[in-house]
Amino acid sequence: TDKVCWSDLCRGPHLPSTRLIPAFTLTRSAAAYWRGSEKNPQLQRIYGTAWPTREALKDYLRMQEEAARRDHRRLGEDLDLFAFSKEIGKGLPLWLPNGTIIRDELEGWARETERQLGYKRIVTPHITREDLYYLSGHLPYYNEDLYSPIDIEGENYYLKPMNCPHHHMVYKARPHSYRELPIKLAEYGTVYRFERSGQLHGLMRARGFTQNDAHIYCTAEQAKDQFLEVMRMHADYYRTLGITDFYMILALRDPSNTAKYHDDERMWADAERITREAMEESEIPYVEEIGGAAHYGPKVDFMIRSVTGKEFAASTNQVDLYTPDRFGLTYHDSDGSEKSVVVLHRAPLGSHERFVAYLIEHFGGLFPVWLAPEQVRVIPISDDLLSYANEVRDRLLQAGLRADVDVSDNRLNAKVRTAITRKIPFVVVVGRQEVADSSVSVRYRSGKEERMP
Ligand SMILES: [Zn+2]
Repeated sequence: TDKVCWSDLCRGPHLPSTRLIPAFTLTRSAAAYWRGSEKNPQLQRIYGTAWPTREALKDYLRMQEEAARRDHRRLGEDLDLFAFSKEIGKGLPLWLPNGTIIRDELEGWARETERQLGYKRIVTPHITREDLYYLSGHLPYYNEDLYSPIDIEGENYYLKPMNCPHHHMVYKARPHSYRELPIKLAEYGTVYRFERSGQLHGLMRARGFTQNDAHIYCTAEQAKDQFLEVMRMHADYYRTLGITDFYMILALRDPSNTAKYHDDERMWADAERITREAMEESEIPYVEEIGGAAHYGPKVDFMIRSVTGKEFAASTNQVDLYTPDRFGLTYHDSDGSEKSVVVLHRAPLGSHERFVAYLIEHFGGLFPVWLAPEQVRVIPISDDLLSYANEVRDRLLQAGLRADVDVSDNRLNAKVRTAITRKIPFVVVVGRQEVADSSVSVRYRSGKEERMP
């Protein structure tokens, strides 16, 4: 919760003298009404931060500055990645062409990774009859996430808040034999969840977002290995992106508050055992948290830490032994009997919105070449070299790179500066010399320059 409750535990003063504080600085001041009522006189509220050493204070301020410089909302605007429009509505981002490239590259990578691991892709609708949500249990108990229903020919439809129930219906659409399992159904599924306007925060917290979602349907015997595969997938994704500071939280139920949880001791014990075994074997560090479980099972959250020290919940995973019974998700076993499957929920790259927001801050806009919206900027030193510059760009495009020519009438230095502020990995300058020997001069982000044929 963002609400901060403050109660004065002692009347103070808390220190005999401010001289005892080794390092502090004032950060801002703001007007406030006495006791929060506008009928009362106005006061000035002064904010400050105090540290045990000057060094610690300096580090803190440096980190704050770095966080502001990397803020995804600011970089999103500077690099033309995404935008919001008053007419479209709060919390509903527009992906601009540059941001869409990052989104598509991530999605393409995830699709290919999943294809290699035997996932099958599906597509499900954005609005759905209320019946599905009574079946899933969202209605009537968990309706705070849902938007008001849409009336279609006298029936209530809802915008989908999650993909799980739809994927279960895909599984259920055909009978399955033990020979087919595991079945892994994947979708970059767009969902809509109610967020109060005060809670919205750029791409980090939006009202509509697209998740890297999939559900694995398997036998109880397969569940541990399948869950382990999911964890390794997370670790591979993060390490490829240079994210090394991550760990898991195993959220368990609170045994003193049994009313809050589905009452089935055996189910809880099995789900916890499978989850823990997979977590241990993954060798990824984890901590346990009592009380954080869903009402029907334990959860595993992947937490990643950003360069500025912020912690970020990247994805939630679950070994789910509850939903299969509720939805009637079964398979025919080798002995001819019908058994319940185990469902694994996973979304290693979270949602495009949150994950791209994280990556913008993680890289500070300096994306690795494969994610950079524009990989090469071609700069002709004068207008008469434009056709050679276009020729260079066309060759780069044909080679599979994302390249553009700076056609502005700016001076060379200004063009190079623009390319640098746009954080483009390679800047290719073409002049007369380059035309004469059909070469190019490449400038890297490091500032290093090189001539190439
Ligand atoms: Zn799910």
